Amino acid sequence: MNAIEQAFSASINTMDPDQVNASLDSQKRWPIHKDTALCSNIMSTIQAPEGSLSIQESTIPDAGSGLFIKRDLAEGELIFTSVPLVLCAEVGQGMEACDFCFQQRRRVFHPVEDRFLQPGEVLPPLHICNGCRMYQYCSKSCWQRAWDTGHLYECGLLAGASTDVETRTLYRLLILMRKKVLLAQQVKALARLEHEVANFERRTKKSWPRIISIAREARERTKSELSIGEILMLYGIIRCNSLPVDQTYRNAPLGNALDFGGALINHCCDPNVVIVFNSTQVQVRALRKLKAGEELLHCYRDIAYDFTFRNPRIAARYQFRCQCDRCREESDRHYKEAKNESDVLPLILSTQAALFDIIDVSKKQAFVTPTAFNVELQLGKVNHILKTGYAGGPWPNNLEPLPTVLKALAALCERQGDLINSIKIRIKALAFTKWRKGLPWSEDLIDFVLSLSTLTMFPSHPSLRDPSLPKHKEFQDIFIGHLHTLHGILLNFYGPQGRTTGIVHTFLQQEKGSYNGPVPGTRAFRRRFKASQENVLKWAGVDEGLWTVE
Ligand SMILES: [Zn+2]
Ligand SMILES: [Zn+2]
Ligand SMILES: [Zn+2]
Repeated sequence: MNAIEQAFSASINTMDPDQVNASLDSQKRWPIHKDTALCSNIMSTIQAPEGSLSIQESTIPDAGSGLFIKRDLAEGELIFTSVPLVLCAEVGQGMEACDFCFQQRRRVFHPVEDRFLQPGEVLPPLHICNGCRMYQYCSKSCWQRAWDTGHLYECGLLAGASTDVETRTLYRLLILMRKKVLLAQQVKALARLEHEVANFERRTKKSWPRIISIAREARERTKSELSIGEILMLYGIIRCNSLPVDQTYRNAPLGNALDFGGALINHCCDPNVVIVFNSTQVQVRALRKLKAGEELLHCYRDIAYDFTFRNPRIAARYQFRCQCDRCREESDRHYKEAKNESDVLPLILSTQAALFDIIDVSKKQAFVTPTAFNVELQLGKVNHILKTGYAGGPWPNNLEPLPTVLKALAALCERQGDLINSIKIRIKALAFTKWRKGLPWSEDLIDFVLSLSTLTMFPSHPSLRDPSLPKHKEFQDIFIGHLHTLHGILLNFYGPQGRTTGIVHTFLQQEKGSYNGPVPGTRAFRRRFKASQENVLKWAGVDEGLWTVE
């Protein structure tokens, strides 16, 4: 074992000094917040104003240590930035991430130039590494820099390796330790993160042999001298603490990042921070006003979905059952509102599964042969499912995944060239959306303003002549209004320097220039916006109270 592996091994087996005399069974690992040297070591990896953060015992039961803010913060204020210890790109079919720079390639923005993609614009393909045929890069220079910073050690060991991103993150960490690329300080801190291996073993009985074989294979491939037990713990650390790189609710993440700051932020389904990636840098901002002394909380996944979907997915991935207020409220609602008292949850879950099937089918169709798909037929199917889908009663409009189904069908309509119908369905979807906070909502608004901009660009569009439609001016009002709101939201998520904010800012300035109404943000504009929004909602068949904007 080399010095780095030894440092990891010693640190992962460190016990709580308060419990050294207790029986072996109850010996707990030394919590991070009790180890001041470790805390300052971890804090040195985070870029934040001096003394603005501290590591303390979490306010969430059994969550170990957490990260706390020590000053008051305004909504959108930057809390800290950091560069993850290790990043690992998703690979395989349809995955489009550069394993060096992690520029987003699948959204509506150009990956490098500060602009929206043109409709139908095709990006140059990624280069695949000739050695491993596994990792992809956006340019020769990204490949070269990845090679020099560690890929040279792993490239030859990856033949036939798993495409699973956590397994490859494990290989990467073991190799970086073997080659002494990581520092002793870093691996000591890494070893002390939560690993939940005991829970993994207990709860994942069926897949446990597979997890052991992952550790064995990792040991063989990387020639690591850590024990299988230690490698299992490292694998647990990766699973429990990684951040998905640039996760958006409609796309799979670009990769996996292990970051000390991110790892210390505990989960809550109603979070108070938002985590975004700027290329490979992690940025954490306040999602609302924060008071000094509050614990920073982040929703690990599926934030826009209901308890019935989100809670079990988090439990399976992170080995804990979330018991936050939002989880409790959402679960109570089903028992209160659904008719059939006894089998409420199984009945809801089966409707939910049927709705997710429709989302899958329409997403696939949108990229294969969108025109071969009958949206009206699907809407009919959805309505049929909804009638008695809520344990015998009607499925509530604002209960996911219904709004998401409508968004998928709206996207499909748009690809079929039926812009008017697409906007109509999308308005319904957004009016039904319950979780209008965080990244998913900003993406909803991006999709919405982009389709509105296509419509308002052509005042003489033949379909706009239909007298039952809202007026062109009304579409323009809501377009400018929502674009203005979107810009404000993005400022809070990405800051004024953020690329996404910049692209939308330029777009807003341009559109404001050609808009004949009052200035967005003024009272006169709000009055006009409100009237137009109500009219457009009415046209879409939605109660105008469902989507009011401040
Ligand atoms: Zn790149
Ligand atoms: Zn390679
Ligand atoms: Zn929760």
